[in-house]
Amino acid sequence: MTEFELIRRYFTERQPPQAYVPLGIGDDCALMSARAGMQLAVSSDMLVEGRHFFAGADARMLGHKALAVNLSDLAAMGAEPRAFTLALALPEAREDWLQEFSQGLFDLAQRHGCQLIGGDTTRGPLTISITVLGEVAPALALRRDAGRPGDDLWVSGELGDARLALAGYLQQQVLPASEQEQSGMRMHMPLPRVQLGLALRGIAHAAIDISDGLAGDLKHVLHRSGLGATLWCDSIPVGAVLAKQDRRLQREFCLSGGDDYELCFSAPAAHRAAVLAAAQQAATPVSRIGYLETTPGLRIVDAQDQLQFFQLSSFDHFIS
Ligand code: ADP
Ligand code: MG
Repeated sequence: MTEFELIRRYFTERQPPQAYVPLGIGDDCALMSARAGMQLAVSSDMLVEGRHFFAGADARMLGHKALAVNLSDLAAMGAEPRAFTLALALPEAREDWLQEFSQGLFDLAQRHGCQLIGGDTTRGPLTISITVLGEVAPALALRRDAGRPGDDLWVSGELGDARLALAGYLQQQVLPASEQEQSGMRMHMPLPRVQLGLALRGIAHAAIDISDGLAGDLKHVLHRSGLGATLWCDSIPVGAVLAKQDRRLQREFCLSGGDDYELCFSAPAAHRAAVLAAAQQAATPVSRIGYLETTPGLRIVDAQDQLQFFQLSSFDHFIS
């Protein structure tokens, strides 16, 4: 199989054409149009074997996750997915692997109406790099710098199960097989909160997706918004599997575990009902977990309002 056959068989021919992409895969560039008055939201995320996933990882789940983590960035911006590019380094052209990988990729792409418009394919250590393009109306993007003092802080879904799964795989925690499998699905098959991000346009102020741990990612919002926050650690929704562990581990993994791909966002207290309506419309649970304030820093308090101290290390590729 040549490089071009590979691209045609596993990528070009896997999706119907779209009118807004008059020229897709096959030329030096793709040509596409954004809808009138919309801005493009653009983001890249890369998965590297041995760094972001274990060698021998399931190809279909890898195809899903590589796109999911990118769609999650669009979700956190309140942007609507439109297109993506795929840069792929493969150690070898294995047809069974490519079949499964592209299946996982296009299953998710089609669910979100996101068209593959180009990429690059080379031999090399397994690396999957995707760039997504979405659309958002100029004033409606959910920017990290848009938090306001007094805003409620919210988070979607439940946190910590993906981190627990990783602890299981690394044998830092002993998990029964069923719990390893259940939490493993949270790690391998994250569901990007695209519908919620869209529903929150005009309702939420700032948003971020949680890829490196809630506390660390929230600090990016605080920094960009020039604010501090109080976070109620006992109000953070705990993943179903993690909820069976002791409270210390629950708090640690909810606050600093990675790979959750939930949205953390701020919204004015006057929008509480609107936030809940948006969550319902998006069929995504949300929880109120604190508030933004002018005092700098992040204060984590328990249900008795006692200040809690954690040694939290959010994920950093150049430290850990
Ligand atoms: P160039 O040499 O101009 O970089 P390539 O020969 O690498 O172009 O790619 C040929 C066409 O196939 C281009 O349109 C490119 O965008 C597309 N392409 C290459 N690899 C992929 C891939 N993994 N997925 C989707 N499109 C791809
Ligand atoms: Mg090329």
